[in-house]
Amino acid sequence: MRPANDRKRRFRPHSVLLPLFFRLRNLKVLEHLAFLQESQFWPRERLEELQLARLRKLVKHASETVPYYREVFARSGITAQDIRTLDDVKRLPILSKEDIVDRPLSAFLSSSGGRPFAVRKTSGTTGHPVTVLVDRDAYAWSIAARYRCEQWHGIRIGDRQARLWGRALDQKGRRLESLRDLTLGRRTINASNMMDASSLRRQVQGLLACSPDYVYAYPSLVLALSEHLKEDSLPRNALHVKAVICTAEKLHGFQKRFLAEVFDCPIVDEYGCSEIDILAFDCERGQKHIVAENVLLEVVKGNDLGAGEVVVTDLNNRLMPLIRYKLGDIGVIAPNPCECGRGLPVLSSICGRTSDQVIMTPDGKRVHSVIFDYFLERLAGMGIGIRQFKAVQERLDRITLYLVVPNEDDRRKTDLLVARDLAPSLGHRVRLETKHVPRIDLFPGKFSCFEAHPSLAGAWRGHTSQEEFTNWDSSQSGER
Ligand SMILES: [Zn+2]
Repeated sequence: MRPANDRKRRFRPHSVLLPLFFRLRNLKVLEHLAFLQESQFWPRERLEELQLARLRKLVKHASETVPYYREVFARSGITAQDIRTLDDVKRLPILSKEDIVDRPLSAFLSSSGGRPFAVRKTSGTTGHPVTVLVDRDAYAWSIAARYRCEQWHGIRIGDRQARLWGRALDQKGRRLESLRDLTLGRRTINASNMMDASSLRRQVQGLLACSPDYVYAYPSLVLALSEHLKEDSLPRNALHVKAVICTAEKLHGFQKRFLAEVFDCPIVDEYGCSEIDILAFDCERGQKHIVAENVLLEVVKGNDLGAGEVVVTDLNNRLMPLIRYKLGDIGVIAPNPCECGRGLPVLSSICGRTSDQVIMTPDGKRVHSVIFDYFLERLAGMGIGIRQFKAVQERLDRITLYLVVPNEDDRRKTDLLVARDLAPSLGHRVRLETKHVPRIDLFPGKFSCFEAHPSLAGAWRGHTSQEEFTNWDSSQSGER
């Protein structure tokens, strides 16, 4: 793999236009970036001092000016003076998506005024779409953090981004997206344009023509594209990009290796959320560093899955403070620092939403869908080439594995290993079936390698009977 600084160094007009734009809009992106470039190498203790100072300020501000916090802090008898160490954050109540959705937005807005600079909205895949208003400075800190992390892979301000995205947009949305693309010097390719082979091929040609410096994408979309890059026998690293940044979906090890082979560049995983933006980012050594200057990320123990739930505090957004906001993801913070020398803590594992990731079985067992990751890793270790994978639980007692395995011998081996190694972990009452398909189509929106009947969330809480599963149309499975 060639190092990032060996890659093309062409002049990009946006390297001049964007700093000008920030200045015109009074966004202190460059100042914050200079700070973050230095603070990333601070020792852990100094970073924690910074977090504590920002947290105390935020708690004081929220308790004085935000109706929701004024009420809940008063009820629990907490004031900013009670936050003496970072550990004291645990004394503050946890905020859920439901807490936000159940109240008017004004309950979370600071009375100290200020116009929102940006509006962030979640897609609503959790059933609780959340809107967050962001002030100018919090927005600038987010952009600065993104630039800092991208620089780890040789990406500079103004570099051209090819963005493979999955959001279904109406006409107005598409116009806004085009305007944003123009401002930021990027090109967006929507998933709805990547549904069949001929449109994929067109997108590949379009991508080659726009000559991006890096790719920012949902893993499922960039994988679909790379299949075509490979099938068209284009030269290795035809796109010649500095990095491929994957976001929004779980990036599996076998997918990362395939992408690295096609693109011949670092494949970088980003962890973020729509409400706060970037939370953690892979460094050159593939370790996911938390953006500790902007967010206080805690892993709260307590469920019976053996992992902790991720709870985050946005340390900068004073217009609509999010304090101890529960994302619904499961994570683990690494005990040791990364060898790259940065003091930023490392997230050693992160899985998607708790309820989406749990497989319920008829005998009441809960099995985490991470078992599919382990299984796929095992197959990869044995040299079995898997291109795409999706597990669909149609009923409590039936799971179908849709697999794209090009080699016939590999398909046979996979079937044997599914029956021998994977099926026992789900128990004898679950029928596990494999279906080899030429490809698994993508739908606009996030792609998940495990999908259960929509009422599984209810089953997870123990309220849904097996009968409610039976009428689900299996055509939703992703096989077409
Ligand atoms: Zn590192």
